[in-house]
Amino acid sequence: MSRPVCSSCGEPAVEVEPSTWTPAWGKRPSWSHEDGEPLCPEMGPDGYQPCGVEYV
Ligand SMILES: [Zn+2]
Repeated sequence: MSRPVCSSCGEPAVEVEPSTWTPAWGKRPSWSHEDGEPLCPEMGPDGYQPCGVEYV
């Protein structure tokens, strides 16, 4: 069975909004690390944004 992980660091990801999030960072993502931290940032077209998840 596959499980979701942060596509940047490979740590397990959960479909829970991050507990530490500032609206100035943009739209609140629907995924976070297991400890509640946002997924690792990656550079996108509009600056840094949390990376997505992948299934392993
Ligand atoms: Zn990560």
